[in-house]
Amino acid sequence: MRFKRKDKGKKFKLILIILLCLAVIGPGGWFLWTKYEGGAPKINLDLKAGVLGAVTEVSGTIKDNRSGIRKIWAGLIQEGCETVLLEKTIDANKGQVADAGNIVPFSITINTKELELSDGEAVFRMAVWDHSWRNWLKGNVAYLEKELVFDTEAPRLTVLTSQHNISQGGAGIVVYRLSESCEKNGVYVGEDFFPGYSGYFDDTSVYLSLFALRYDQGKGTELYVKAVDAAGNTARSGFYHYIRERGFKTDVIPISDQFLEWKMPEFVSSMDPSKDMSLVEQFLYVNQTLRQKNNQAILENGQKSEKEFFWHGAFGRLPNSARRASFADHRVYKYNGETIDRAVHMGIDLASIRHADIPAANAGKVAFARETGIYGNTVLIDHGYGLFSVYSHLSRINVNAGDMVVKGDTIGNTGSTGLAAGDHLHFGMIIDHVYVDPVEWWDSNWIEHNITSKLENIKSIIN
Ligand SMILES: [Zn+2]
Repeated sequence: MRFKRKDKGKKFKLILIILLCLAVIGPGGWFLWTKYEGGAPKINLDLKAGVLGAVTEVSGTIKDNRSGIRKIWAGLIQEGCETVLLEKTIDANKGQVADAGNIVPFSITINTKELELSDGEAVFRMAVWDHSWRNWLKGNVAYLEKELVFDTEAPRLTVLTSQHNISQGGAGIVVYRLSESCEKNGVYVGEDFFPGYSGYFDDTSVYLSLFALRYDQGKGTELYVKAVDAAGNTARSGFYHYIRERGFKTDVIPISDQFLEWKMPEFVSSMDPSKDMSLVEQFLYVNQTLRQKNNQAILENGQKSEKEFFWHGAFGRLPNSARRASFADHRVYKYNGETIDRAVHMGIDLASIRHADIPAANAGKVAFARETGIYGNTVLIDHGYGLFSVYSHLSRINVNAGDMVVKGDTIGNTGSTGLAAGDHLHFGMIIDHVYVDPVEWWDSNWIEHNITSKLENIKSIIN
């Protein structure tokens, strides 16, 4: 028993010594472990490698979760010269902003004029150190580099076409030369932008842009070409133009119960089933909300247009047909003698025999061929550089998206699918995202004067 008690005492002493040692070494070890932490700071910078203009605001954050940020340095190296953009030292305590998660925000203004930088290549460098005792007390370092090009010169823009007569609801073309390639360039008609395309002419610095004037844009509409280079430098040039204003007719369309009972079931699947709508309410939904949605589906294809003119000569019109409605007719819908809605008709209605063959108006690539709400079965043909023709209310579609067609190919048959009261073809022409009057494109003289002769003229000047 005595022996055992002695043994127990020894064991107790040993535990005590270990605990004392831990009490001394533990915090010291923890202190050193903390001071020698090996985690590098992290740099979060909103600057991409690439082209910069005259003034660039750069901002970002630096984060170090362990010992905190000690020093920040940023600079530019151009032709062997170093320009310091930012140099900042942060005290141990201040760098360790606990509640901000050790995040230090920064912002830098690169003003090429003030910093006397020249256009051309440069390297942006950034280095950040933390308060760790590693690397002989210098701390862990984070380092990054971005290759930049400074471009402070605006592109030079020269309009090459001379006279531009445009009708309301009509089209035009502008050809221009750019001194450098520009990500965004094209014609502005009021708020509408029509992209310019290079590749039509052998000289790739020469661009063409087909543009449209909306039926309701009058003489005061601003028209100009604008080009923005990769650095954001902008060139803008007006061009001589004459806007021909014209009138559009008003058409009263009586809506009968018979028509609503016949047509509305076709659209019920696109309506909210929880709403109990009367036939007139259903019609208003179809004529307004669905019309807008269907137009968007047709007009959003502009930017995907092929960079090639497939078409040649005048566009064809449905053979042996009578015109039932014109472009930009202002339609007034009456129900029981009362006006219930208004809409503008963005195409031409042509009636022939029932289920007549529809020839492609010109050569192109089928952009889509499918059921499209109020337009029923619809075919959209891309003729290149933003020019499209559209065929609606078809009883039958003969083509598929992606098919190449030549002028006269039968793409389908007329019908009365969608919001159509009788068998007819709704034919439309589109420039990028704006409906234009097809009459211009059916007219070989108009095409010659306003499109092809201009292109031929430029070709003879530059080639
Ligand atoms: Zn129509």
